[in-house]
Amino acid sequence: MDWSLSAEQRHWRDTARAYATEVVAPRAPELDALADPEAAFSWDLVDAATEYGLRLAPLPPAFGGGGTDFLTNAVMLEEIAAADLGMSVVLAQTWKFAQLLMELGTADQHERWLRRLVDNRRGLMAASLTEPQGGSDNVLPYAGVDGGMQMSARRVDGGWILNGQKHYISNANRADSIIAFARTDPDRPVRSGVSMFVVPADSPQVRFGVIHDKLGERLANNSEIFYEDVFVPEADLLGQENEGLADVARLLRGSNAYAAACTIGVARTAFDRALRYTSQRVQGGRPVLDHDDIGVQFAEMYAQLEMARTYVFRAAWAADHAKSFDPKMAAVPKLVASQIAFDVTRASLEMFGGSGVMRDTGIEKLMRDATIFLHSDGTNTVMRKKIAADLRTRVGNGAADSLWDW
Ligand SMILES: Cc1cc2nc3c(=O)[nH]c(=O)nc-3n(C[C@H](O)[C@H](O)[C@H](O)COP(=O)(O)OP(=O)(O)OC[C@H]3O[C@@H](n4cnc5c(N)ncnc54)[C@H](O)[C@@H]3O)c2cc1C
Repeated sequence: MDWSLSAEQRHWRDTARAYATEVVAPRAPELDALADPEAAFSWDLVDAATEYGLRLAPLPPAFGGGGTDFLTNAVMLEEIAAADLGMSVVLAQTWKFAQLLMELGTADQHERWLRRLVDNRRGLMAASLTEPQGGSDNVLPYAGVDGGMQMSARRVDGGWILNGQKHYISNANRADSIIAFARTDPDRPVRSGVSMFVVPADSPQVRFGVIHDKLGERLANNSEIFYEDVFVPEADLLGQENEGLADVARLLRGSNAYAAACTIGVARTAFDRALRYTSQRVQGGRPVLDHDDIGVQFAEMYAQLEMARTYVFRAAWAADHAKSFDPKMAAVPKLVASQIAFDVTRASLEMFGGSGVMRDTGIEKLMRDATIFLHSDGTNTVMRKKIAADLRTRVGNGAADSLWDW
């Protein structure tokens, strides 16, 4: 096992870092400050991602990408999030759903949907599971038929008709294509009654509602989607009928590592800025950083962040190499990293004294951004419940002894 980055991985990290520092960082504060949530999204930043070769990096070269693996993607997302969380999420969503299409799609779906994404230089992707009445019940699949998503997919001649409402969907109103999750069997619980469909976002039967006004991660848009009698041909069912939630859990095994990498990027910037500030700010007759207790606090923050980061990279590595998928490796990194990133960012804010809460310092943006992944990609409470469920299953199967093997 080699813990160093390969020359190719360093190339991608450096490309992402150049994009982040040259393009994203100079624009992020001004976009974040806009009152209109829709206006905080910038096509210029997407155009530049295309020019830097980042927009579809994980896809194979035949589909305009660099064939980057989960680990390389996590490294890149941390770099981009260090400049702005929203922009890292815009790309992370596109990457993971393009990867899902690549892994699960048929050759025909690759040609139609991935080709369309390549040809559209502003092609982004979204996936819609969450509904006003069904959020955590899709992430921690609820066992009854009365909970979770209710959007329906009714079989008709040659395909399906989709009807329902989604909300909070990242990239929805900016996407080229959307993966829509709907109940293909209303008599079964979500775990065994939901399927995935690929839907063009410019379909006249797809309507976007409110653009959500978020606390942080503002450079990414999130919106409602209304599916109103959307006809989806049989050929655009993605994966097996009724297997949608099982497929997405297995194939998006790097998803929460992506979220975790993004949140670490935010905390890393907060930490760096606090370190620099305290090395210059003099109180008690010396730079604040030179007080022993402050130095020790930074040491603890550094240790926490480095620990979370190493773990996220291991989870991404496991997504690339593991022979079988361990659901805990999807949940634990997001839980650990988002909590540590939040704590480190909050402590960094405090290092700025009064200026930490002043808008012009720019640190409060990081605090708002660090809050997002306590909620998004499944709440941390739900992450803990997923881990507990897996532990119970292992004991039940007599497989607890293998808990520490990897
Ligand atoms: C910024 C952002 C981006 C998002 N992007 C997307 C996207 O692209 N696509 C998409 O489909 N969704 C997206 N979501 C939705 C996200 O996945 C849900 O918000 C999340 O799963 C929680 O669902 P909910 O909001 O309905 O909260 P609820 O499920 O109503 O949870 C409310 C509270 O109850 C707790 N809770 C819920 N169930 C249980 C339980 N069984 N036991 C104990 N406690 C419980 C939760 O932890 C939480 O504290 C996004 C959300 C955010 C904030």
